[in-house]
Amino acid sequence: MSLPAVLLGNALTWRRQFHQHPELGYQELQTSEQVADVLTQAGLQVFRGLAGTGVIGTLENGPGPVIGLRADMDALPITEKGDAQWKSTRPGVMHACGHDGHTTILLAAACQLAETRNFRGTVHFLFQPAEENLGGARKMVEEGLFTRFPMDAIYAMHNWPGMPVGSLAVNPGAMMASLDSFEITLHGKSCHAAMPESGADPMVVAAELILALQTIPSRRLSPLASAVVSVTQISGGEAINVIPEQIVLRGTVRCLQSDVRDRVRALIEDFVTTLPRPFGVSGNIHWYPGYPVTANHVAPAEQVRAVACQLLGESQVEWQVNPSMASEDFACMLEACPGAYFWLGADGATPSAPLHNARYDFNDALLPIGITFWQQLVEHVLPKG
Ligand SMILES: [Zn+2]
Ligand SMILES: [Zn+2]
Repeated sequence: MSLPAVLLGNALTWRRQFHQHPELGYQELQTSEQVADVLTQAGLQVFRGLAGTGVIGTLENGPGPVIGLRADMDALPITEKGDAQWKSTRPGVMHACGHDGHTTILLAAACQLAETRNFRGTVHFLFQPAEENLGGARKMVEEGLFTRFPMDAIYAMHNWPGMPVGSLAVNPGAMMASLDSFEITLHGKSCHAAMPESGADPMVVAAELILALQTIPSRRLSPLASAVVSVTQISGGEAINVIPEQIVLRGTVRCLQSDVRDRVRALIEDFVTTLPRPFGVSGNIHWYPGYPVTANHVAPAEQVRAVACQLLGESQVEWQVNPSMASEDFACMLEACPGAYFWLGADGATPSAPLHNARYDFNDALLPIGITFWQQLVEHVLPKG
């Protein structure tokens, strides 16, 4: 890896600046401004405004294939507990998922490739807003990302605590689970807690239903299917001696196969509408569809693997790793365009704090690895310049 010292110095500065000034989804005003400035100075064509704060830098180097590389820019609503000098200056907001690092790596890779230009074709550098639950990637797709910027393939990386620095994991299929949320309302008839026969108790139904939903993964699906149903919130009831009129349950469903996702949804709906009936209670459900399965396409995943083996050594590359049951909105881009998403190990001598933890901080040792990886991927996928 031989990157210019000036570039690495800039990258470290940007990373810590982004970390100090985190911005929540769709509010990445300062971040996107800085990204656009650096891309413009590096000589790229810059397009702004897709999904609000999205930035796309285009580097054309003659005719040839077109690929996209994507980074996410948003932070999380968490108060940072670490004590780094570059700690968040915004109470209640922090880069706890390393998107400051992803943005920096892609920005530095754009600067480096604008200098070296050892490829023929076009690279779009995509900086997306609002990865954390707000669907920035989907919004970019809906606003015409792939019609305005047609691409042959798209790639994204995420730093991954739990794997050592210098390692990489990629699959020729699912990397991350789908995510959907639901809200179930159980409507009964309120009455005196001493005279349950004069009402219809939604509390008892809630208890039955929570347990019944657990039988979907354990009894209705094959043990080889992957699904998690979690009821995470329950609310209802005001007085200790009153059976409540209504109970609301909320939760999430995560799956690794899209057919399993459809089946789990149908089974939950069946339970919600039929199970309460003999209790004299009615149930209905509202779905909040989240992200699809982050499913890599085989050929781009193999390209990532080949470049990783060359850069990091074969023993450092995991292929067909167990997917994570967490989710990722890059999935929405992979539904519309072939591509691959992969993890870069983030544990140094001291293991990294987990993602979304208040003591997490992006490991800067990943900067040169990430920048070089993007450069080599471009030079591997696109014909030589
Ligand atoms: Zn995250
Ligand atoms: Zn993330």
